[in-house]
Amino acid sequence: MSVNSKLYEGKAKILYATEDPEVLLADFKDDATAFNAQKRGSIQNKGIINCSISSQLFQQLAKQGIQTHFIDSPAPNLMRVKAVKIIPLEVVVRNIAAGSLCQQTGLILGTVLSQPLVEFYYKRDDLGDPLLTRDRLLLLELATTEQVEQITHLALQINEFLQQFWEKCHITLVDFKLEFGVDSQQQILLADEISPDTCRLWDIDQTDPNSRIMDKDRFRRDLGNVENAYQEVLQRVLKVVEGYKIG
Ligand code: UDP
Repeated sequence: MSVNSKLYEGKAKILYATEDPEVLLADFKDDATAFNAQKRGSIQNKGIINCSISSQLFQQLAKQGIQTHFIDSPAPNLMRVKAVKIIPLEVVVRNIAAGSLCQQTGLILGTVLSQPLVEFYYKRDDLGDPLLTRDRLLLLELATTEQVEQITHLALQINEFLQQFWEKCHITLVDFKLEFGVDSQQQILLADEISPDTCRLWDIDQTDPNSRIMDKDRFRRDLGNVENAYQEVLQRVLKVVEGYKIG
């Protein structure tokens, strides 16, 4: 596989062009950032772990009929993906109140929401990724009304599947962030990654509010054992996927 030029380097991944203009190569990095990159560090083996988890989840979602940018994973930290134009929205789905939802609404951490909440944030680091209203999103022409409907529907479908999948891993899916892209045929595909960097994941078997955290909040809040937690998530994912194969 010959790799061409580096197209883009983000906080967690480097994107390379390939010989095929329809295919890009994503290299998952160990670098970790939080609070709009004000906190920087690295988590050992994070690139490999997040690429592996994402690859497994994208394949499972494809089986559910959800179109994703995933093609294959030629190495543990590399993912070949379909080239898409990323819609500059961070689509957050929440099942349980945590993070900015608690800070901005006063809801108590851990409150189970009566129904999943889908939110759109503007993917603009320079503006601090602000929460958007639907009207602002349309005003800025970040997506069409039809795309917003489609993305909301997809986000809820993905949540349904992921909630069940993570439960099989003995993990509660608190909330997560998705990104979508548009391909050359104007199809909306799920893009970016689904990993402990982008999901809040709580160990079902732990009741202690800090011990149960298996995601990037361990890094954000300096809780320690970050790599162990990420590794444990990967091991549980692989076990559940193996179980699916056996039947
Ligand atoms: N999230 C993310 N990238 C971002 C912002 C949020 O992956 O730039 C994820 C985050 O890990 C969590 C969910 O989206 O699973 C909701 O995050 P929230 O809005 O509560 O913000 P945070 O508290 O993480 O700043």
